[in-house]
Amino acid sequence: MTLDALQTRVAAVDARVRGAEVRAGRSPGSVQLVAVSKLHPAEIVEAGWQSGLRHFGENYAQELRDKHQALGALAGLTWHAIGPVQVKNAKYVARAASYFHALVSVEVARELSRTRGLAGLPPLRCLIEVNVAGEASKAGVGPAEVPALLDAARALPSLEVVGLSTMPPLVDEPEHNRGCFRELAALGRRFGLPHLSMGTTSDFEVAIEEGATFVRVGTALFGERAPG
Ligand SMILES: *Cc1c(COP(=O)(O)O)cnc(C)c1O
Repeated sequence: MTLDALQTRVAAVDARVRGAEVRAGRSPGSVQLVAVSKLHPAEIVEAGWQSGLRHFGENYAQELRDKHQALGALAGLTWHAIGPVQVKNAKYVARAASYFHALVSVEVARELSRTRGLAGLPPLRCLIEVNVAGEASKAGVGPAEVPALLDAARALPSLEVVGLSTMPPLVDEPEHNRGCFRELAALGRRFGLPHLSMGTTSDFEVAIEEGATFVRVGTALFGERAPG
């Protein structure tokens, strides 16, 4: 993709985010676009940065580590780790990311906090991933498991739990995920957590209408990915 084409896509997605904010009566700028750059080369991230994007999402810990190393000089670049991570790879997330959107286990929480502390960085902002739809194939803890994980994570010195995230089923019709987003928002209110990470290319406007503060958009910005 040329830089021109990317800038056009960034402007289009940005306009849709701002439009959804207005429709939902949300304050302007209350939604942060996270550009999901997984499986795209570091050059694409750099082109995205030149197009005005600052927040980028990566799924795989080693890929995040490598891009963080390659692109460390870009001012204001903020990394979001949005995929599940194994205990042995948690250190890469702890060193590179400002946000982790996929907290599902106490073991990973402990390792993230430990390695974050060793790196001398401020607490890693985490969102607990909830499997709202109860799909067997999807990651995330059940709503009933949130309080225990929240308590455990809050006891750790180098983590700060700031919200909840979810990855609903892939659907043809974005409206079908509205209930899922609404449920996550209700859980967020119940636990007093300000951030909600929900919505992807196929449904981010509905997610914004239901209270998303982070939307994770890949394909609409960077095009189709090679299979991972
Ligand atoms: C890949 C991915 C996205 C982005 O999906 P698109 O459909 O490309 O917008 C968002 N969230 C998570 C967790 C992902 O893995």
